[in-house]
Amino acid sequence: MSDLSIRLQEVMIKALEVDAFCHKLAKGGAGSGDYGHEGRPGEVGGSSSEGGVESIRSSTDLSKELSEKYGVHIHVADGVSPQRADAIISHSHAVISSLSDSSPLVAQSLRQSAYGAGGLKIEILKGKMVWSEEHQENAFATYQKETNTLKIASGLNTSGASAAPHIGNQYNVGTDFRTVMSHEIGHAVSGKIVMEAHKQGIALTGKELFDSKSKDYWRSGVSKYSAKNSRELMAESFAAYTHPGYGQTKGLPKEITRIFEAAGIKPGIRKILDGNQRI
Ligand SMILES: [Zn+2]
Repeated sequence: MSDLSIRLQEVMIKALEVDAFCHKLAKGGAGSGDYGHEGRPGEVGGSSSEGGVESIRSSTDLSKELSEKYGVHIHVADGVSPQRADAIISHSHAVISSLSDSSPLVAQSLRQSAYGAGGLKIEILKGKMVWSEEHQENAFATYQKETNTLKIASGLNTSGASAAPHIGNQYNVGTDFRTVMSHEIGHAVSGKIVMEAHKQGIALTGKELFDSKSKDYWRSGVSKYSAKNSRELMAESFAAYTHPGYGQTKGLPKEITRIFEAAGIKPGIRKILDGNQRI
C-alpha cells in the first residue's frame, strides 16, 4: 500500500473515530436472514492484507466452529465481497474464541443470551458503516439486545491495534478491530456479568453503577463514550479490560474491575491471533 493511501486511511479513521460505536438497543425489529452454518467458501488469504493468520482454515470451517463450539451464528448479507466476509469471519473467530476460551461466563453468555434470545448472531452487512437506530447515527457495528444480534459493516476501516487500551479521556478505548468487536461482545455479555457479580455480593445493577459516579468520573476513568450511559460504560470497560495490553497503562476504576473479577472475567487476554490487525 502506498504512503498516500495509508495516510488517507488514517484520515478516514480519524473521521470515523468520532462515531465509532453505536448500538441498536432501544428499537426492536426482527432479526433478518437465516443463521445456518453457511460460511463463505474459499481460503482465508494468508499473506494478503485482508487475510488472517489462520490461513490454513477456511472461513467456512471457522464459521462452522463458531456455530458448533461457541453457539455464534454468522450470516453474510448479499452483496458483501467474499474477501471482506472472509476477513471479518477470521478476525471474529480469533476474538470470540479467545474471549470464550478465557472466561467461561463469556462463553455461556454468547451461547445463550441473558435476555432469552438464543446464541449471538452476527450479520455482516454491505457498506462501510451500519445504521444505529438507538443513536441515529452510523457506526462500524451495532448490537441489538432483543434479538442478540451484532451487525457489522463489511467495509469497516479499523485502526491498527495499539499496545495498550486508551483508558481515560479518549473518545473510545480503542478503534482496532479487536476492540470494536469486544466492545460489541461486551454488550452481549454484560447482563450476565452483572448478574454473576450480584450473586457474588456486588448488589448493583449496571445503571446503579453508572449513577454512582459523575459522568466526568467515567470520562476520565474509562472513555468519553462510556459516559453516555450504563450500557456503553460496561461495553467500553469490557473492551479495555480484555484488551491484550490491559495492565500496561493505568487500569480501569476499581468499581468496574471488582465486577469483572467477581464474574471471573480474565483481564488482558493475550491468546489472540489476528483479531488485532487492521482490516
Ligand atoms: Zn456500545
